[in-house]
Amino acid sequence: MHEYPATVEIIKIAIEKSNGKYVKQINLVVGDLCGYVASSVELYFPIIAENTCCENAVLNIERIKPKLKCEKCGELFERELFSFLCKKCGGDGFPTDIGTEFFVRSIEIAD
Ligand SMILES: [Zn+2]
Repeated sequence: MHEYPATVEIIKIAIEKSNGKYVKQINLVVGDLCGYVASSVELYFPIIAENTCCENAVLNIERIKPKLKCEKCGELFERELFSFLCKKCGGDGFPTDIGTEFFVRSIEIAD
């Protein structure tokens, strides 16, 4: 349910940046570990955007898969199911911030 206020925020950002013009496209980045469900944001978007300058905007969501960092060789890698080991050297992988993103990357505004 916390996707609702998050989607309100996204639209607020777009309205501010568009300066009253119509917003054509909103490009959002959503990491798989960010705590927000991308499909819920997609669901709320048209409802919240109604009667705003975002009502005809296309919402593009770029999903980011989480990556681990190898403690030995520094390699960044997506983890396999049931494994935290580096694909390059077999070292232990540790969590990184990759996959926790949640932000508006860009907004396309009508001329
Ligand atoms: Zn490694």
